[in-house]
Amino acid sequence: GQVLQHIGCPHAARERMAEIGYPVSLAGKNGQTVRLPLKGCSFCDVAVDKGFYGALDMETVVSQIHCLPELTDGRKIPFELINENPLPGLPRLLNEIKGRGIRPSQINLILRADWFVTGEKYLRQALGLAQNMGVYILLSSVGLESFDDGILRNLNKGLNVDANLSAVRLMRQLKEDFPKEWGYARADGAIHGFIHPTPWDTQVISANTQKTFGAYALPADILPAHSTPLIIHHASGLGDWIREVEKREKVRYKRYGSVIGWWQEGE
Ligand code: SF4
Repeated sequence: GQVLQHIGCPHAARERMAEIGYPVSLAGKNGQTVRLPLKGCSFCDVAVDKGFYGALDMETVVSQIHCLPELTDGRKIPFELINENPLPGLPRLLNEIKGRGIRPSQINLILRADWFVTGEKYLRQALGLAQNMGVYILLSSVGLESFDDGILRNLNKGLNVDANLSAVRLMRQLKEDFPKEWGYARADGAIHGFIHPTPWDTQVISANTQKTFGAYALPADILPAHSTPLIIHHASGLGDWIREVEKREKVRYKRYGSVIGWWQEGE
């Protein structure tokens, strides 16, 4: 099930100027960039709508949970809490649910790495409550996207490799502290975002990324079974970026419906 608590993504609520590097496949153009205003992550095709941003009140959220079907043991079916930054409000939500005698089984969260780390205090409170209520909290997806600072900048993710690695450390630490109530790993059913290939991959970046994978043992529990190739939707920030590159350099990338094929020049 899904429970809506927050509409929109705060990262996409504010427009900022970004500088996105040229695709490395354009020979002799290394180091050139396109400067453009962006709302949220450059690849996110919903960032524009997600900029609309508002919270649903506690009553509305609790009543959605109340209406979820029950499992045979009388507990509510697992649900995803739709809120890009759910941690600050999570202890209060759990207290409300508990006070009303509603018994959830599992809550799935999708979070940004930076807000996950800054929300640690609230998450620990929530996991303490979850222990008491017999609820399992699954970090079902964190959009890590890349382990290279340059690519994260081009994706306008608003965070760096250190932030991703801090998130990985905290995920693992919480598993030690709350082994029964906390899940974050691929084996727990989590699928964290990792975008590859991208138009900015070089041999140096690939070698460094592999080193990071090894140093932090990321393939063991964090990396998804398959990476997601970068998809450029016409409506995303990268859509504006690649059309500007096309205009300036008199190249044309292939169109596949609503997707621009950055990997292939020519119609
Ligand atoms: S991908 Fe980026 S802009 Fe889109 S919802 Fe997630 S954090 Fe927000």
